[in-house]
Amino acid sequence: MSVSVVPTRAKIVIIGGGVGGTSVAYHLAELGEKEVILLDRNELTSGSTFHSAGLVGQLRADPTLTLMNMHSVDLYRKLQESDTPPSWRECGSIKLASTPERMQEIRRQIGWAKSFGLDLHEISPQEAQNLFPLIDLEGVVGACYMASDGQVDPSQLAMALAAGARKSGVQIFTHTRVLEIKTKNGRVSSVVTDKGEIECDIVVNCGGMYAPQIGRMVNVRIPIIPMSHQYLITDNFMDPDAAFLPSLRDPDNLIYFRQEVSGLLMGGYERNSQAWSADYNSLDDIPANFNSMLLPDDWDRFYDIAEASQRRVPKMAEIGIKNFINGPEGFTPDNEFCLGETSVGGFYVAAGFCAHGIAGAGGIGKVVAEWIVAGEPTMDLWHMDIKRFGASYESPDFTLQRITENYEQYYDIHYPGEERTSARPKFVSPVYEWHKAHGAVFGEKASWERVNYYSNNIGDDTMRPRGWLGKYWSSAVQVEHHATRNTAGLFDESSFAKAQISGSRAAEFLNYVCANNVVKGIGKTVYTQALNSKAGIESDYTVTQTDTEKFMIVTGTAFAIHDFGWLEKMRREFNFASVEIENITRELTCYAIMGPNSRAILQSLTNTDLNHTAFPFMTSQEIEIAGIKVRATRITYVGELGWEIYAPVVEGLTLWEKIIDAGKALGLIACGYRAIESLRLEKGYRAWAGEINSETNPYEAGLGFAVALTKENFHGKVACLAAKESLKRKLVAITFDDITSVPFGSEPIRINNKVVGRIKTGGQGYTIGKAIAYAYIPIEESEPGRTVEVELFGHWVQGLIAIEPLFDPINERVRS
Ligand SMILES: Cc1cc2nc3c(=O)[nH]c(=O)nc-3n(C[C@H](O)[C@H](O)[C@H](O)COP(=O)(O)OP(=O)(O)OC[C@H]3O[C@@H](n4cnc5c(N)ncnc54)[C@H](O)[C@@H]3O)c2cc1C
Repeated sequence: MSVSVVPTRAKIVIIGGGVGGTSVAYHLAELGEKEVILLDRNELTSGSTFHSAGLVGQLRADPTLTLMNMHSVDLYRKLQESDTPPSWRECGSIKLASTPERMQEIRRQIGWAKSFGLDLHEISPQEAQNLFPLIDLEGVVGACYMASDGQVDPSQLAMALAAGARKSGVQIFTHTRVLEIKTKNGRVSSVVTDKGEIECDIVVNCGGMYAPQIGRMVNVRIPIIPMSHQYLITDNFMDPDAAFLPSLRDPDNLIYFRQEVSGLLMGGYERNSQAWSADYNSLDDIPANFNSMLLPDDWDRFYDIAEASQRRVPKMAEIGIKNFINGPEGFTPDNEFCLGETSVGGFYVAAGFCAHGIAGAGGIGKVVAEWIVAGEPTMDLWHMDIKRFGASYESPDFTLQRITENYEQYYDIHYPGEERTSARPKFVSPVYEWHKAHGAVFGEKASWERVNYYSNNIGDDTMRPRGWLGKYWSSAVQVEHHATRNTAGLFDESSFAKAQISGSRAAEFLNYVCANNVVKGIGKTVYTQALNSKAGIESDYTVTQTDTEKFMIVTGTAFAIHDFGWLEKMRREFNFASVEIENITRELTCYAIMGPNSRAILQSLTNTDLNHTAFPFMTSQEIEIAGIKVRATRITYVGELGWEIYAPVVEGLTLWEKIIDAGKALGLIACGYRAIESLRLEKGYRAWAGEINSETNPYEAGLGFAVALTKENFHGKVACLAAKESLKRKLVAITFDDITSVPFGSEPIRINNKVVGRIKTGGQGYTIGKAIAYAYIPIEESEPGRTVEVELFGHWVQGLIAIEPLFDPINERVRS
């Protein structure tokens, strides 16, 4: 029998002593958490951390991640002044553009770096060579430089974080393996190790590439796969007294460099990636003794990278190689971290750092520690939230296909509207074959095939946006937009996530979770948000009361796990155990018929009176359409008269075809999601993860109308009242007269030469004939009529803060 040397109780147990676990421990201690234990099955840093290349770059495609990496740099600077410095060296970094498209990306990044106060600026190829004299400039179009980027010793960083955590009382136990995690009533209750059992309230899985194994202990799927990642270190060949080189990235050639002593470290992202200890048929299975180990050198796969490195730095062909590293690192299906509380209460994850965990560790530790202490995210972390992954990732095949695709495109430019190509199709609506036969171009969301547009609708090509947005743009969207505004459009929204909430306390539960009053009687539909305790919008959906004790929630395709997970958490934490939450997404199709002729078309297929008084806006009825029993809800997300029709999947195709046939004479056409986007931007309907998220409150987002402050209580009410009284910023609509100058997110906005914010979302409004964007602006600058400037690929373009909504301000169409 093993002797118990670990404490028998702690509040928080962190599993994993790499940069992730030590940073979470450090930040929990900083927040004043006292009863924290960190366990590692081997030595600290003996997973992926010890063999990392240690480059720290701050600017990423995601604003939140950029802010997190900026925190990392601040922290590493500070730790460098401590008793355990991590060898932080602020050597700066250069990014080369070896193609004109990359130069566009760099200019775009320089633009939005301004909105973070980051010191990124364009430099000429010659200036890049002055800073990094070893490069050959063949094919270099331009470059940028950031002085505050740097490099750090990964193991020393983990040790410095561990030392900081220990100083504040965190207990660290190495050579202590977690074997089992126990749960009680849906929450973690203890961790069983080979040194004894520790009762606890919270477990943080910082297991890096081992995180899926740890997740399986509580039946939580964490879609991370260890991928082989390689770099080499050359012999020392540079003058040790010469100026230290900045890091260098040449993404078009898939390579990166940094100075190592007086030699170079060089690595890259191969086009022929290799998973380790996982394949298409089986989940990851890392050997129990795999610590402080590397994988065998794989020169064949590294050949192209080595060749590219010699083209960019010819010296690479002459110097010897001191060390070759092939180390496994946990990658996720979209190259973003896996953070946050899982479906098991108190079981958090902070893993899957996709070869940017050293740059991210400081920020990861901060946001995860804050999340644990607050019980909810303190920033908009949706892009990193474990709840973004749907059920498809249970499959090893699906997961590996996606991870392979993303790994191999790590350094590629990702254009707006770009679609993943691997592991498709997965989930399809009953109308999928019909769509295909009618020229549909599909996109994918949460594994669902959805129609973006139908290619045989031909519109005006002169409206193609300039720059990146033009790449995956189609004129078909205009045709579908105008049909919806002028006659009628039929949209297949079967992928919408749907849940049934039932039980004798269902009404009480929903009115606690939702900010609006969602209990208005059977047949009433209510638009609402679910708020967190800081009044941030956790979810945005509609609730329909379908029976005395039954409600149906409809939310976005990608939000099932997130939104229904939030409901589960609320049920668990606020004692609504008797309420049932059932995901019914796959049981029902959903078609939206929208437009001025939608009533006449539907009326020809049903005996139910569809007139405004008999079937008012925001009501729902069970009716028959073409002899098929459906639920029809009068609602719109495009700003037109219309219904969403929910029908059993088996009847889906027949119903679709009947509606299409009935609508032909009245101008009905099938339309796709891109048209919805254009239509909803004109109407100012908000999108979660677009203009609104857990960091924005309903008042600043213009959604105060959906908050029922008259209700005695609801989750987040106190913060909501405070938010209403102290608005600091406001979501505004900005229009641009030139419909081809279209921002699409993160571009800086300036007023009177001062940067005041960045664009959240943008697109084209074909009825108003303008480009449209939405952004949060300081309240004092937000009044309509004000001119703003937005930077598009290095050029400042004038826009106007407009009165919202941009289309049909008195809702004449919706309520007709
Ligand atoms: C070759 C290579 C180069 C890289 N270069 C860079 C770079 O330049 N810049 C950058 O930002 N990032 C880089 N990275 C990525 C970075 O190194 C990783 O993201 C980071 O180290 C991962 O840290 P972690 O704490 O998540 O995981 P790990 O360091 O793997 O820590 C996980 C720990 O969990 C422990 N553990 C697992 N199971 C159990 C259990 N059951 N009980 C107890 N303990 C357990 C393990 O022993 C391990 O120590 C690179 C990675 C590789 C492989």
